Amino acid sequence: AKWVYTFGNGSAEGAADMRNLLGGKGANLAEMSALGLPVPPGFTITTEVCTWYYEHGQSYPETLKNAVAQALSTVGTATGRVFGDPDRPLLVSVRSGARVSMPGMMDTVLNLGLNDRTVEAIARETGDARFAYDSYRRFIQMYSDVVLGLDHHEFEEVLEDHKERNDLTLDTDITAEAWQGIIEKFKSLVEEELERPFPQDPQEQLWGAIGAVFSSWMTPRAVTYRRLHEIPGDWGTAVNVQAMVFGNMGERSATGVAFTRNPSTGENTLYGEFLVNAQGEDVVAGIRTPQDITEKARLEAGSSSASLEALMPEAFAEFQSYCSQLEKHYMDMQDLEFTIENGKLWMLQTRAGKRTAKAALKIAVDMVAEGLLSEEKAIGRVEPGALDQLLHPTIDPKAERDIVTTGLPASPGAASGAIVFSSDAAEEAKAAGRKTILVRVETSPEDIHGMHAAEGILTSRGGMTSHAAVVARGMGKPCVAGAGTLRIDYRNGVINVAGRQLKEGDTITIDGATGQVLTGEVAMLQPTLSGDFGILMGWADRVRRMKVRTNAETPQDAKVARDFGAEGIGLCRTEHMFFEGERIIAVREMILAETEAGRRDALAKLLPMQRKDFTELFEIMHGLPVTIRLLDPPLHEFLPKSDEELEEVAKAMGADADLLRDRALALEEFNPMLGHRGCRLLVSYPEIAEMQARAIFEAAAAAAKTTGAPVVPEIMVPLVGLKGELDLVRQSIDAMAEAVMAETGTTISFQVGTMVELPRAALKAAEIAQSAEFFSFGTNDLTQTTFGISRDDAASFLGTYQRRGIMEQDPFVSLDTDGVGELIQIATDRGRSSRPEIKLGICGEHGGDPSSIAFCESVGLDYVSCSAFRVPIARLAAAQSAL
Ligand code: PEP
Ligand code: MG
Repeated sequence: AKWVYTFGNGSAEGAADMRNLLGGKGANLAEMSALGLPVPPGFTITTEVCTWYYEHGQSYPETLKNAVAQALSTVGTATGRVFGDPDRPLLVSVRSGARVSMPGMMDTVLNLGLNDRTVEAIARETGDARFAYDSYRRFIQMYSDVVLGLDHHEFEEVLEDHKERNDLTLDTDITAEAWQGIIEKFKSLVEEELERPFPQDPQEQLWGAIGAVFSSWMTPRAVTYRRLHEIPGDWGTAVNVQAMVFGNMGERSATGVAFTRNPSTGENTLYGEFLVNAQGEDVVAGIRTPQDITEKARLEAGSSSASLEALMPEAFAEFQSYCSQLEKHYMDMQDLEFTIENGKLWMLQTRAGKRTAKAALKIAVDMVAEGLLSEEKAIGRVEPGALDQLLHPTIDPKAERDIVTTGLPASPGAASGAIVFSSDAAEEAKAAGRKTILVRVETSPEDIHGMHAAEGILTSRGGMTSHAAVVARGMGKPCVAGAGTLRIDYRNGVINVAGRQLKEGDTITIDGATGQVLTGEVAMLQPTLSGDFGILMGWADRVRRMKVRTNAETPQDAKVARDFGAEGIGLCRTEHMFFEGERIIAVREMILAETEAGRRDALAKLLPMQRKDFTELFEIMHGLPVTIRLLDPPLHEFLPKSDEELEEVAKAMGADADLLRDRALALEEFNPMLGHRGCRLLVSYPEIAEMQARAIFEAAAAAAKTTGAPVVPEIMVPLVGLKGELDLVRQSIDAMAEAVMAETGTTISFQVGTMVELPRAALKAAEIAQSAEFFSFGTNDLTQTTFGISRDDAASFLGTYQRRGIMEQDPFVSLDTDGVGELIQIATDRGRSSRPEIKLGICGEHGGDPSSIAFCESVGLDYVSCSAFRVPIARLAAAQSAL
């Protein structure tokens, strides 16, 4: 096998497309070198060596030593130097470089090859003893830190001590002689700590550094990072060894970093910073303030320190030409590192630059206009999830954060407000013009008005599909859910958390994108939707196959979703329509009624309200498909909780409060999410389905008249496990359709379908499809029932599962394509086997998650449905998965 690839002097053995073997950095160094850019010569030890190293008890392949020695001499020839030579020593940098850049690994050792003898050669050669000894002491510090594992503070202390005793402030004030003294101290420090001297043999230094890079692949930090970002452990890292060039050789030397376009706005102007007479780590360390590269940026920033453009115009012009060459070559915005040694420019790194969502959009759209990218390629350049940044306010990245605790990032956006503990308090505050954050252990349907009134919602219990999370996402409101360390004390109006106390009325900020809870009001950035957004979404819509619908029940949500491009409603949760104002009382009457007649009385009160709701939705959707789900209430959410609420219902029903209390107690369930909900309720009380079907058909007839567009309602039966359940409910629906058509003298087309939320429904899909014209995968419940993990309690232990590596992601956020996905595949195949034209969609929260959407494309679903604010994300993700 070939273990080592050289580059430099206008040629290279590797290339950009060999990233898997050479790592990102190595592949791009090879590519730049082959393009003829000035890259300091060097070589890359491949990722396969890393794999070999771990498969063979941390040893190296036999031929590696030789290959490295040869590569070193090639680099020597190219530079006119010899590694370890006492007259013309070659100095190198050693850097790690995996396929993707990865924090937590050994980063860089510079100036390797320096020792007590070679340092003198460098001093002679450059005529700058101060520079030579400064480089040597940097090397000892860096090597001791990253290779020998010594605490760099101890070295800093020696340095600070020297400066203090000699009344110096800057490192640059230290003379060559003084550095020599400090170097001796550094060396004895190493010897004391390790009981052996600092390695003087350059070969030993080099192999020490190579070993440190490979070992750093398995540090706990690197392992954790890989787990969080789904990076396989067997990718391994490469090692890049490269001839040193010096940005710290005096006033004609410099080092810097740059982006070919502005990474926060996307503006097509070079953007970067540099330092004169400095080495790479100085720019990152932040001790000196870097200067702007371009004159334009300097003027805009009103800075008085000169730009690179003004200071070193020739090197700048050359750099600028490489920037545009590399951008054209890679067809993407690049993030670059460079060094200028005595006026000569060297390119040290290029890679695709990280960018904000706004910049990603602008760059993608601009590059199509510039002819650099096709529209299809441009679609792939924007990460769908990042669009969230554009739709919600976000915390200013420059703002200071005092983080109290972190919960689940349940609904994106950030909000500040005073703590309130009840929905009524939130509503009162809103009426008085005050902003609040509603803090609850968990929310229930009764909190809808408070959630509307508050700026954001914070709960201490519940997961990503908890009531708070689902409803907040639908409203586009920030929500942090399941912040388990919060001890909420409603009675005393305080929250205890990690030894601190927050009181009702205290201002806090929640960040629904990260799950952070912060004290005080934190500066925010407001969202803006640029023209680029519309352009890119237009391209996405042209290439995607799946439709994108929305989960919505209020006219408000439906309108927002249409503005975001929704092509219909995929899920209208009718129980969510029952929480507003007086309706909840009628719903409670219905639930608590002892007799069918009592239930019918209550239902009669609800009918006109439902009819009005549906008419509005049909009108807003103007002929687009609307899926209405029949009542699916986890009953416990509806039962009156307080005596007050009980009395309210009793009064409305003209019933005795004590009797009602008994009835409510009798209805209480041990496991309500697996209890009397979904179609089970409709089987017990067919009059509910009848009322809802009537409301739907009457609304359809009315809306068809006002809009002039045909309305074809899709009526969906929840939580079906048996064909018989669906058949029974279907009978009521069909009978009601006949009745309404006869009464109104109109024909109404409609479809009846079912949710697939239970493993049994997936398995028996062939049978069930005989009675269902469509399936919608309710993956919230399907995940809950497949895993047997309660969707509302999962948060308390899933974190541990993720930390321990049992689960990579929360399956309530990102579809478990392996297990739940297999059930979806089975249901799809079997459903189609008995009804080939069956319409298939998804309406669980996964319908708005990009990786889950890719799965939906792979099984060939017809549409995904998600909350309004995720519609743009779903459009883009659907397009990417179709390409
Ligand atoms: C589901 O279970 O995925 C679903 C959409 O229904 P709900 O969240 O209302 O139970
Ligand atoms: Mg469900």
